[in-house]
Amino acid sequence: MLRYDDPWARGTFLSYTVTKVYEMFETEFQRIEVFEAEEFGTVLALGGVTNVTDRDESAYHELLAHLPLLCHPNPRRVLIIGGGDGGTLREVLRHPEVQEAVLVDIDGEVIRCAKQYFPKLAVAFEDPRADVRVADGVAFVANAAAAGEKFDVILVDSTDPVDAAVDLFTESFYRGCATLLGDSGILVPQSDSLTFCIDRVVGIHRNLSAIFGSVTPYAGHCLTYPGAYWAFMGATNGRALSPEHVDGKRLAAFAEELRFINEPHARAVFALPQYVVRALAGAPPSDLPSVCDVPPVD
Ligand code: SAM
Repeated sequence: MLRYDDPWARGTFLSYTVTKVYEMFETEFQRIEVFEAEEFGTVLALGGVTNVTDRDESAYHELLAHLPLLCHPNPRRVLIIGGGDGGTLREVLRHPEVQEAVLVDIDGEVIRCAKQYFPKLAVAFEDPRADVRVADGVAFVANAAAAGEKFDVILVDSTDPVDAAVDLFTESFYRGCATLLGDSGILVPQSDSLTFCIDRVVGIHRNLSAIFGSVTPYAGHCLTYPGAYWAFMGATNGRALSPEHVDGKRLAAFAEELRFINEPHARAVFALPQYVVRALAGAPPSDLPSVCDVPPVD
């Protein structure tokens, strides 16, 4: 029996039973592994860690996309950095207000694997509103900011801060995003594990807070990411993300198509456990030490 161990923390793994291996290879940027696992369906691992599984992909993609889009009064132009599996793009394009979604992933092989092995994720690549580019998100944001482009919402659907993704968690990247967003836009980066990486979550919050007037954390259950409890941060210089700003009417128009989010759930994700509230307020880490490096301050 073949097993695949995804490291969650020191000595702790999510251990899949592999029933079929599709592809395992290296690109210029990362190791890509696609396989079938008992109970999880098709799995995409990048750099040795789970990025997507059939079983739980909707939780992460719905949380990342719908909270900012439902809190923004009129999200017409959306930028996705990373997200080469297509899941976030699929969720963004459920919103009829969105006229254009630009997706920038550094690795074209992730997009190719998504089209080949994850047909339910890849549905939106052919949507006429999707503009899919293979490029470094850091360079894209810097160039677009210099060119005066504007977006209503930016979603950072990247791998964790290792290899090509390190600079996507820095203050200077967030500054470029702020320029692209103007006064009312919203940035949401995926913001790591509240179970194992609270120091990293605090570091992302700190780097965002140096640039944005309001940074609102929220979190949800993402089964196959370390600790299964994942953070997101809504950063803006305009109206803050909050339970009252979730537009339930707009959500109702496509709620039946979703697997995870409904209106009460979308409002509840802002409620955080006390250890998270304390850590974000600057308290020293308490009982459970973080196992992840903190993003750099530049
Ligand atoms: N949330 C998922 C996770 O944490 O496991 C992320 C899934 S998505 C497939 C991550 C994508 O980020 C990958 O396709 C990877 O190629 C992309 N990525 C990493 N660094 C990047 C960069 N600098 N610019 C654009 N995309 C990047």
